[in-house]
Amino acid sequence: KPAVAIVGRPNVGKSTIFNRIVGERISIVEDTSGVTRDRIYADAEWLGREFSLIDTGGITMEDEPLNEQIRQQAQIAIEEADVIIMMTSIKEGVTQEDEQVAPILFKSGKPVILAVNKADNPELRADTYEFYSLGLGEPYPISGAHGLGLGDVLDEVIKHFPEHEEEYDESTIKFSIIGRPNVGKSSLVNAIIGEERVIVSNIAGTTREAVDTRFETANGREFVVIDTAGMRKKGKVYENTEKYSVLRALRAIERSDVVLCVINAEEGIREQDKRVFGYAQEAGKRIIIVVNKWDTVEKETNTMKEFELEVREQFQYLSYAPIVFVSALTKKRLHLLPEKIEEVYMNQNLRIQSSILNDVVMDAVATNPTPTDKGRRLKIFYTTQVSVSPPTFIIFVNDPELLHFSYARFLENRFRDTFNFEGTPIRIIPRQRK
Ligand code: GDP
Repeated sequence: KPAVAIVGRPNVGKSTIFNRIVGERISIVEDTSGVTRDRIYADAEWLGREFSLIDTGGITMEDEPLNEQIRQQAQIAIEEADVIIMMTSIKEGVTQEDEQVAPILFKSGKPVILAVNKADNPELRADTYEFYSLGLGEPYPISGAHGLGLGDVLDEVIKHFPEHEEEYDESTIKFSIIGRPNVGKSSLVNAIIGEERVIVSNIAGTTREAVDTRFETANGREFVVIDTAGMRKKGKVYENTEKYSVLRALRAIERSDVVLCVINAEEGIREQDKRVFGYAQEAGKRIIIVVNKWDTVEKETNTMKEFELEVREQFQYLSYAPIVFVSALTKKRLHLLPEKIEEVYMNQNLRIQSSILNDVVMDAVATNPTPTDKGRRLKIFYTTQVSVSPPTFIIFVNDPELLHFSYARFLENRFRDTFNFEGTPIRIIPRQRK
């Protein structure tokens, strides 16, 4: 998916525009996990073209001087985005900061669209020509407050998207490895790659935000591991900020078919693990929980079982994810990972016939009656799978409010007992029958 970054000094209205662009996206899938994500990054769409929108203003640190913040924003945009929207404001006219950032963006060679915000009426719009002086070509007057002119900007933005969005064969399985620092992400990437036949390719390979390595297992299956871990040692200020590493992780997750969520067995489960893994869950990706550094744990008869129970307890929202215990150091059980990745990958493409699905739902209702609320009982009329990746089910009911979380969870478990959805999240969406 192409990425678009918005750059501009504070108060030009970046967040308003960000929300307008994102808000116009029609989606049937709503946030389920409740993990709150900083609004620095969101999925958006214009004329059927999907893209990621990045608000660089949300990433830089507020205690830096203004001109430094703006310079960092420009750098982030240049590194992360395919197209940059530079925002200015007609109220203040061309400012010193605008004049400072424009040449940096221009020199990068990336396409830059110049948007002039707060052009709320024709008189104000008449002043737009002044912004030609920034040397970024035609300025586009917009009004975030009134939602004017944004379409023209987006038309221009999508003209600059790269032709080929998909970099690999459909059959190539892409995965990434996420986890907090020091859990062994880089070691795992290196250990996995070390065991397999790496395919050197001059077509796809190194993208700007991550290092991709393509390899093939003995059974002839092709994989790509997307590695962001190695990127953080470059030493630029913003690269060490938490939000920036989250952005990097999100971008890698988004490109992945399967996400490996790594826990450090030596240190056990931490709060931060939950937050990081929540991103993968929220993105609706297939997930495998990898317990690394298993060599460091002193083992008795039930050590693995006990650790597994602990993981299940702590990550209840990932109950569908298989758990694999490995050691990147000794390479023990490492060969299980590609196998598991492939298995989980296949599960998400499962399509269930409506007739079978409705039988399962009827059986479920027979054993566990639907809930009632204020004297009204939930009625389920019909269930149908509307998509894969992730498998999404629409349940037509008398009143969506009556489908409580716990009952949805019960139905989900029934689906999981009946069909093999291991590793993949499932979405259940209640709809009122007209
Ligand atoms: P990252 O920050 O998640 O990429 O973690 P690294 O791959 O840089 O690893 C952090 C440290 O843990 C390094 O010192 C590694 O040598 C060590 N390490 C990684 N995997 C293992 C493992 O399976 N067992 C042991 N004992 N140490 C490991």
